[in-house]
Amino acid sequence: MGTDTGDLDRGSLTHSDSRRNFLKSLGALGAGAILPGTAGCLARAARTPDAKPNRIDVHQHLFSPAYMRRTGPARGNARTDPALSNWTPARALEEMDAAGIATAVMSIATGGTPSNLGGEEARNLMRDSNEYGAQMVRDYPGRFGLFASLPLLDPDASLREIEHSFDTLKADGIALLTDYGDKWPGDPTFVTEFEELNRRKAVVFIHPTTPSCCGNLIPGVPAGWTEFDFDTTRAFTSLLVNGVFTRFSNIRFIFTHSGGTIPVVARRVSDMLPKEMAADAPNGVEAEVKKLYFDIANGANPSSLSALTKLVPVSQLLFGTDFPFVRMRTTVDGFQNFGFSAEDVQAINNGNALRLLPRLGK
Ligand SMILES: [Zn+2]
Repeated sequence: MGTDTGDLDRGSLTHSDSRRNFLKSLGALGAGAILPGTAGCLARAARTPDAKPNRIDVHQHLFSPAYMRRTGPARGNARTDPALSNWTPARALEEMDAAGIATAVMSIATGGTPSNLGGEEARNLMRDSNEYGAQMVRDYPGRFGLFASLPLLDPDASLREIEHSFDTLKADGIALLTDYGDKWPGDPTFVTEFEELNRRKAVVFIHPTTPSCCGNLIPGVPAGWTEFDFDTTRAFTSLLVNGVFTRFSNIRFIFTHSGGTIPVVARRVSDMLPKEMAADAPNGVEAEVKKLYFDIANGANPSSLSALTKLVPVSQLLFGTDFPFVRMRTTVDGFQNFGFSAEDVQAINNGNALRLLPRLGK
């Protein structure tokens, strides 16, 4: 297999690993469950009602060669997360099999993509990551999906990347950050991109990052502890008060980490929204919130899930892990111990995701 970086730099992934992992997973079902044919057939077999794995994880991260050159161990970057330096698609698949995850939708990690990244550097990094993700989808049929990234501060380049991602790479959706250069996504600067995403009825995955205002407010406290959840709430509020949810209602938004602090502030925002802004949410704030989707990565705990399920129906909850930054079992164990009914568990495992991303069930 070579070194981790070697696997990444190779750019093309081995099909035999995928097939071997499928066979290993299906072995637990007994010989009668193993079907002859391609890995694609095996992928379909793995999604029959009694089969394992069957989960769809909408929140995993990929690390393209360009990303690794920016942040990886080869650069001796002290900020490199150990989880990142050990990541390869094959290792992700091994953990997915152990955690009952059939398919993971991949998106770029934010650690190597500062929110103010612009120009050619941003265009090249996003293109490289999107191409790498599309190659993973091709090399491991049925096991990966892709939320492609955009250099959102550059509208023309973003429109080109939307076209390339959907029409050429067949991406499943678009991954955006919670802010770009201290502009949150509802900012009128980004209206061109949202018009196009609305026209394409895109799934848009909103992933937290650290705004430059707030990255190091409390010495010794990493931004990921709290800022990610706060910035998720800023992004939500920005989209709400600029009328994006209402004007571009074809877009299906996914927010992460059980909504961050959205579930505990949504009603406060609703109560305080001035009348002149209410036109941007004519059906009410809560009606807009209930249309949103939320993955439960790193938020599959009793307090986060209690707040989220008081705000939105279970139909809006998606399984997610945030691997490799969080162990896959953390979500599996957390949400299964919450007390959901068997029907709700099934909906969160894959039913809701398949409604949103039907390609992943084919
Ligand atoms: Zn993440």
